[in-house]
Amino acid sequence: EAYLSEIEKANGKINAYVAVTADKAREMARASDERIAQGEARPLEGVPVGVKDLFATEGVHTQACSHILDGFKPPYESTVTANLWNDGAVMLGKLNMDEFAMGSSNETSYYGPVINPWRADDSDRDLVPGGSSGGSAAAVAAQLCAGATATDTGGSIRQPAAFTATVGIKPTYGRCSRWGIVAFASSLDQAGPITRDVRDAAIMLKSMASVDLKDTTSVDVPVPDYEAALGQSVKGLKIGIPKEYRVDGMPAEIEALWQKGIDWLRDAGAEIVDISLPHTKYALATYYIVAPAEASSNLARYDGVRYGLRVPGKDIIEMYENTRAAGFGREVKRRILIGTYVLSAGYYDAYYVKAQKVRTLIKRDFDLAFEAGVDAILTPATPSAAFGIADETLHNDPVKMYLNDIFTVTVNMAGLPGMSVPAGLDSKGLPLGLQLIGRPFDEETLFRVAHVIE
Ligand code: GLN
Repeated sequence: EAYLSEIEKANGKINAYVAVTADKAREMARASDERIAQGEARPLEGVPVGVKDLFATEGVHTQACSHILDGFKPPYESTVTANLWNDGAVMLGKLNMDEFAMGSSNETSYYGPVINPWRADDSDRDLVPGGSSGGSAAAVAAQLCAGATATDTGGSIRQPAAFTATVGIKPTYGRCSRWGIVAFASSLDQAGPITRDVRDAAIMLKSMASVDLKDTTSVDVPVPDYEAALGQSVKGLKIGIPKEYRVDGMPAEIEALWQKGIDWLRDAGAEIVDISLPHTKYALATYYIVAPAEASSNLARYDGVRYGLRVPGKDIIEMYENTRAAGFGREVKRRILIGTYVLSAGYYDAYYVKAQKVRTLIKRDFDLAFEAGVDAILTPATPSAAFGIADETLHNDPVKMYLNDIFTVTVNMAGLPGMSVPAGLDSKGLPLGLQLIGRPFDEETLFRVAHVIE
């Protein structure tokens, strides 16, 4: 009830929830109370959780914050959310996001932008919460839920977490089932939690993760007790610092924060080593070929026949065209155009195949660092703090907007676990995050190191 009344009060301004499931929340909470009374409490009993609108929730609004999915209520539940409910968590509602998870500012949502609960000390200007999981991050930061589900294809968990002083972890590709999550770029998409602290993230990820026969890319490895990793010493751990992440134009404050993180870990007994990830400079270009290519294929299913919106036309082809013209926003259309272009005969080898090859090289950079004994890699999470809503330079130049993902996309390309931990405030009082990158399926080391940083 406390969370529901807080949502009632604050959501008008923050716009984090696009649907509040109050009746369902009360019903689930009552079932929790009963289990507790019977001494049968489950690990997340009664914990109120918000769900990114990308997760299919049975009989509940699921639109990936797109107009084209108007009115869609899936007849099934995603595996990740089913895992949470099986563990006793309570659903508060569906959270705002960039349309189909395409964006870095949560401004491409059909439901309007999310407002970051944080403000700069010297300005009243509304700031973005980051994206695409902007609703998840803002809801957690404003205490409109205890934790939220999110997804990350190129940074959409880690960047909003960094902009809102929350913790976000994108686990290893294959750790969480993608079944029932609206697909953006299937070889990159992963679910993970956004929470207020590292312990909550450890608890929530444990519940979300599972092998699942319904997702052939989910991996059958035991899910460890991540919470047990907290408080373990980082003494002797080798932390890699990649020189290629010292990008031109990075604000001095971010560079300084990175140095602080290095010092904290060294003081805690970790060994700091310089490493090189030489293909980092191709990561953004490669990502913005691979992700749109997969998106253009995944989004072909929204044709006015199967789901949501239908805008009539004189024949079926015109109906498709009218539906897709009206149903998709500008950024989604841009991605579909880029994707179909790089996959088209004549350009396929030059762009798509080449990007796949570079993707392998990016992954190999990480493999070599880990083979040389590095346990985790420390970088800034983002090249800036949260920026203003409707920033004209970013909106007139999509490539500038894509630069937000410069530190995060490599992790998805290599399928590795990555985490953003709040590490301090800049001189205007805005949160900044540090990113930890780990070996495949070694989220435990990230939790262990993150707990020292937070
Ligand atoms: N900002 C990136 C994009 O727009 C990443 C999005 C994501 O991780 N879902 O593609």
